[in-house]
Amino acid sequence: MAHIFCIANQKGGVGKTTTTVNLAAGLARVGQRVLVVDLDPQGNATMGSGIDKRQLPMSVYEVLLESASIAEARQRSDKAGYDVLGANRELAGAEVELVGLERRNLRLKKALAEVSADHDFVLIDCPPSLSLLTLNGLCSAHGVVVPMQCEYFALEGLSDLVNTIKQVHANLNPELQIIGLLRVMFDPRITLQQQVSEQLKAHFGDKVFDSVIPRNVRLAEAPSYGLPGVVFDPASRGAQAFVEFAREMVARVATLRKAA
Ligand code: ADP
Ligand code: MG
Repeated sequence: MAHIFCIANQKGGVGKTTTTVNLAAGLARVGQRVLVVDLDPQGNATMGSGIDKRQLPMSVYEVLLESASIAEARQRSDKAGYDVLGANRELAGAEVELVGLERRNLRLKKALAEVSADHDFVLIDCPPSLSLLTLNGLCSAHGVVVPMQCEYFALEGLSDLVNTIKQVHANLNPELQIIGLLRVMFDPRITLQQQVSEQLKAHFGDKVFDSVIPRNVRLAEAPSYGLPGVVFDPASRGAQAFVEFAREMVARVATLRKAA
């Protein structure tokens, strides 16, 4: 059975997509079968995995509207080493079209159940909002991975997300939990970042992943080559940090399984 995780944070530009594609590539590198689901109409995770969002025969849009299965709509990215259920601007329309439909929060969950045996991990790249799309992600997932920058308002922004997750947990998906907080774009030379990092650990304890993703230009350059940084420049510090993080995820998932 696949472990299904949302990569979520209500803020834009915090590193959700970078985390999704590089964790996916890192997991693939350590032998895991991975599906990336792009739930953001911007389609950055799709492009960043080497799949052209302008030429998708089928996408997550058709899956949400139940006119295609995931088995039909997913594509293999040989370059990235994992499967992708892509997205493009069409997905923005799904939001409106879903509103009047039944089980509108549970469309993705149902579709993922059919392919659960095909993947060890499903990583869902969420848009930066609490939309019906994000809700489909949160209702499908066993847990949430929260990438965050160690900046001044980081903790404040986090309380909104934590409340949202609590609400979804209470009302829609009793399985949902925060798997962990991932410190990204980290620069240890900046005192404030170290302070916020300490606050995070004090407040969230072992929910803070040990792995830390440094600010690294190779991770930012990789998407323009249609590759996750882990594949684009495996020797870079950013890539190595994500492979390390992938190992940490595999270990954490083993403890989740034991607890269950
Ligand atoms: P989100 O999906 O949350 O909007 P992105 O993953 O697209 O955020 O990241 C926002 C920007 O920051 C992108 O230009 C990305 O390349 C860059 N970026 C993300 N993580 C890093 C990092 N660790 N080092 C350097 N640049 C990064
Ligand atoms: Mg994104």
